[in-house]
Amino acid sequence: MIIKCLKQFQYHLLHWYHRTARKLPWRKTKVPYKIWISEIMLQQTQVQTVIPYYTKWVRRFPTVRSLANARFSEILILWAGLGYYRRAQMLHQTAKLLCAKYQGRLPQTRDGLNKLPGIGPYTAGAIASIAFGENAAILDGNIKRILARIFAISHDIQSPRTINHLWKLSASLVPKSNPGDFNQAMMELGAIICLPDTPRCHQCPVTMFCEARRLNRETDFPFRRNRIPVKKVRQVALVIYNSNHEILIKRQPDNGRWGGLWTFPFGDNRKEITNELNIDNQSLKQIMTLRFGFTKYQVQLKVYENQLPKTDKRNNERPRLKNSHLRWVKAVKLISYPFPAPHRQIANQLNHAK
Ligand code: SF4
Repeated sequence: MIIKCLKQFQYHLLHWYHRTARKLPWRKTKVPYKIWISEIMLQQTQVQTVIPYYTKWVRRFPTVRSLANARFSEILILWAGLGYYRRAQMLHQTAKLLCAKYQGRLPQTRDGLNKLPGIGPYTAGAIASIAFGENAAILDGNIKRILARIFAISHDIQSPRTINHLWKLSASLVPKSNPGDFNQAMMELGAIICLPDTPRCHQCPVTMFCEARRLNRETDFPFRRNRIPVKKVRQVALVIYNSNHEILIKRQPDNGRWGGLWTFPFGDNRKEITNELNIDNQSLKQIMTLRFGFTKYQVQLKVYENQLPKTDKRNNERPRLKNSHLRWVKAVKLISYPFPAPHRQIANQLNHAK
């Protein structure tokens, strides 16, 4: 289906966006570096979560060069809790590359941006259109859903052929003038109106162009042949105290999901962790249960505490722990270590409980 009046579609969407758009900090700027940071932070992460991280980040690292010159440990502290830590590594790596080869500036085209590490076609399109005014298309989960509904696409949304088709549709909608605002309007539509389970069609500025709406089948789109099942995972974390009232934390391997961050020792079950740390499994007391999701997993994390007895040799190992990834720290000092969000939550609760 071809939208009969493309200009009207663009006009209605842009008019609605200019009238109602949320006032987000990255929408006040056209500085390519800041747009880049916001787009990377917004990947897989909600707007409200990103706002304080973005604000702190651009205050501490206002330019590509300041980011390139920073120590990665400091970057991790600012990123801690935002998840998908590989993004922070890529930002740092790309900032260094920009300083080494691009005089500290981002390339000004979608194709140029797309060649940088960590910048895929969506992010390249978003930066090119918002910061440089190129009429570049964008396509992420939200835009796919909107397009699948507007055009009532009944093919599997995950198939490469459909994705290719959606890229072409997205490109066909972007106007030559104001492409950045248009793309942000599409993002806004996906975030607050064309919601996955409960689209707010009565508030939608392009409802008159929507084929799914006309058919009264909004939630039938997008069609997926195989929905990815959510996997339930149970894990255990230990809060271990020594006789100096210090708590044991562990640095995660660089190449893992939480590479470079600190956590409480955790694993699939108590035995696995207590064996690894060579401590008694019997005297553990459960203190909390957390639930969180990531990618296709739903995790239940049971947290136990354990006080090592005074006679235990490990009490005297401070600071000479054999494993350099382990460290004893006072509860009040936990805040200065970069923790992933669930472990940060444990640390906060320990400090509140004091
Ligand atoms: S009319 Fe409804 S389904 Fe169609 S784009 Fe708008 S919110 Fe989405």
